[in-house]
Amino acid sequence: MSMLSVRDLEVRHGLLHAVRGVSFDVARGETVAFVGANGAGKTTLLRAVAGAHLPVRGTIRFDGADVTQVPSHRRVRQGIALVPEGRRLFEELSVTENLLLGRAARNPGAWTLDGVLEALPQLQPIRNSLAKNLSGGQQQAVAIGRALMTNPKLLLLDEISLGLSPAAVDLVYAAISKLIAASTTIMLVEQNLDRALSVADRIICLLEGRLALEGEAKQLQRDRITEAYFGLDRNQTEGVH
Ligand code: ATP
Repeated sequence: MSMLSVRDLEVRHGLLHAVRGVSFDVARGETVAFVGANGAGKTTLLRAVAGAHLPVRGTIRFDGADVTQVPSHRRVRQGIALVPEGRRLFEELSVTENLLLGRAARNPGAWTLDGVLEALPQLQPIRNSLAKNLSGGQQQAVAIGRALMTNPKLLLLDEISLGLSPAAVDLVYAAISKLIAASTTIMLVEQNLDRALSVADRIICLLEGRLALEGEAKQLQRDRITEAYFGLDRNQTEGVH
């Protein structure tokens, strides 16, 4: 049985249909990357799964229960953790204090402060620094660590490489690879297709709020994803590169 099952989901921002009739499943232990152009609806979809934005139609089932109308704070308790775009840390709190906030969810599980600092070793030397004084890459690591402290069954990562230097992205992705090796279930929104392909089991491409392409990362050809990304018809793209 899938850990997450999304059916016919429609999410709006006012009159704008940001997500239009999207259905997909995520299996336990799987990493699914959502790709697509700016405004394709990836962030809105992730926020809907986290409960930060309620859908107008469709269903979201998580771990056997219908959570479609469950508010975000209760979804955290059920095991869904979102690392939002822009990180949203408490800037006047230290790294350790930000991490400990994740414990408020009181979910049982393997992640402890020591475990998180081990998984994200770049945080060890700065554990007492204020969040506002950190680099973008360090802040991103804290945001991931804070989500892990909730002991999530499903980790939602939104544009974690946005605005980071390539070296910082390498560090963040090294941490994600460790989480994947530990069988964490992950939904990842990523603009960088190569990064997405490097970690994902499956790729889902959104185009103008609709699911344009879905397949195993190993089997999808890069060109095919790019075509879906830009909404180019295969016949129209011959000779265009
Ligand atoms: P990006 O990579 O730019 O974040 P995305 O694929 O994540 O793109 P969304 O951020 O989900 O796409 O946006 C989908 C659509 O919804 C876009 O047209 C966007 O302008 C619109 N949108 C997103 N957030 C809001 C909001 N809070 N209010 C109104 N419209 C919004």
